[in-house]
Amino acid sequence: MAAKIIPVSPFDLIVFGASGDLAQRKILPALYYRLVAGQIPPQSRIIGTARSDWDSAAFRQKVRDSLEKYVPESRRDAAAVERFLERLFYIPLDVKGDRGWAELADLVNTDPNPVRAFYLSVAPSLFGTIASQLSARGLRTPDSRIVVEKPFGHDLASAQELNAQLAHCFREDQIYRIDHYLGKETVQNLMALRFANSLLEPVWNAQHVDHIQITVAESIGVEGRGGYYDGAGAMRDMVQNHLMQMLCLTAMEPPARFAANDVRDEKLKVIRSLEDVPLSDIVRGQYRAGADGADYRTDAGNPDSLTESFIALKVKVSNWRWAGVPFYLRTGKRLRARMSEIIVVFKDPPHAIFPHPERRHNSNSLIIRLQPDEAITMHMNIKEPGQGGFRLTEVPLDMSFADTLDKGEEMADAYERLLMDVIRGDQTLFMRGDEVEAAWRWADPIIARWQEAEDIPEPYDAGGSGPDGALALLHRDNRRWRAIEA
Ligand code: NAP
Repeated sequence: MAAKIIPVSPFDLIVFGASGDLAQRKILPALYYRLVAGQIPPQSRIIGTARSDWDSAAFRQKVRDSLEKYVPESRRDAAAVERFLERLFYIPLDVKGDRGWAELADLVNTDPNPVRAFYLSVAPSLFGTIASQLSARGLRTPDSRIVVEKPFGHDLASAQELNAQLAHCFREDQIYRIDHYLGKETVQNLMALRFANSLLEPVWNAQHVDHIQITVAESIGVEGRGGYYDGAGAMRDMVQNHLMQMLCLTAMEPPARFAANDVRDEKLKVIRSLEDVPLSDIVRGQYRAGADGADYRTDAGNPDSLTESFIALKVKVSNWRWAGVPFYLRTGKRLRARMSEIIVVFKDPPHAIFPHPERRHNSNSLIIRLQPDEAITMHMNIKEPGQGGFRLTEVPLDMSFADTLDKGEEMADAYERLLMDVIRGDQTLFMRGDEVEAAWRWADPIIARWQEAEDIPEPYDAGGSGPDGALALLHRDNRRWRAIEA
């Protein structure tokens, strides 16, 4: 089953922050993969800018080094690397001053490609400045696109301010707010599974679903981002965006059409249906020192920090479909493994005809795994094969993509898909401004509540499953988390 490549129009992609970590580690390798796949038309140009005093030759050398570092050897092809480097240009530019803008305008306004996209791989504090500069310097065309990275705001007020700054220069249909989780194959497959099959829809509701778990576990700590992270915490860094998007796609109603605004309207309705969360349904934690690292407060450089490196919440979606079904969300750093999963746990059969303890069944569950390997499995009960009595055993019906797709084919990275969607002008997998604001409108009072209560995060062991309180959050409802394992 070979993936079909839909060619895109020739484009000029201008990357602000091209010398930075995200550009070198993710954006440029993703574009290289797309070139290898044959999706990038030969006239297209990728124009890097940053303050670093380089020319195009030095930039190409930097990108060559990055491809060597971040692209596995098996996927590196010397001729393709050369073809890719030929598309790269660089202009030293200070977004806050005059330097570089005239040169950039000369490069893109003479001999322009049909599609123009600006990728803002810089701190969010520069988004507004760049948008105004693009407009003032005559670089914005009626159809050009602007791509912004997370974090999109720190709270509702700052998100509204960012939206206003962007809206001053760009229409909403030109703004692409990236949440790279939405570019993952499995996340999109969740929509295919739900809306292209009639099997699941009749049971996708409160009558048949017992509860839903969404876990994003990281094994790493704050890794040099301590300053930023300590001002944010797990709620702002992960729940308000990634886990929220996963919740929306799981809970939303079928859109009328698979089109950007139809999908985003349905996601927005889910966010607006979220109930406020009392402190009793929230567990916050901070990791202790472990064999391979210091404790959270040391990593964050703040000995008095009350910021959470872990959070678990019981969230209710207050609408007809989900009334009474808890969504348990959890995310944290320095946990046992790196793992992201959505688990839909179905209710038990109404009457147990196998009451003997040995014949106990497990609840059916649908596991949508995003990381580290992408897969969807449905866990069913069957009779344990063979003689020796009637015992039940659980087996997974496995839809892992490695088996379904050609063995030789690589799964596209989320950034590859999202970048090509920007060029195509497809906003389906990007967050709309009102969606981001609605998510902050839900998160802000929850954060304020624990700040007012001066809630102290519960310590947890590095390399474990999080604080005991998170286990208790489910135990008290007679449920348990699925184990965190790679
Ligand atoms: P970074 O490594 O600090 O890169 C920032 C870039 O901005 C550098 O290229 C820097 O280049 C440039 N820059 C700073 N001030 C500038 C100015 N006045 N004019 C022009 N260029 C300027 O940051 P990053 O990790 O790549 O992150 C970029 C954005 O992506 C941030 O919004 C971050 O939150 C987001 N993000 C990053 C990751 C990740 O994995 N890294 C993940 C998710 C989201 P010069 O110093 O050469 O000017």
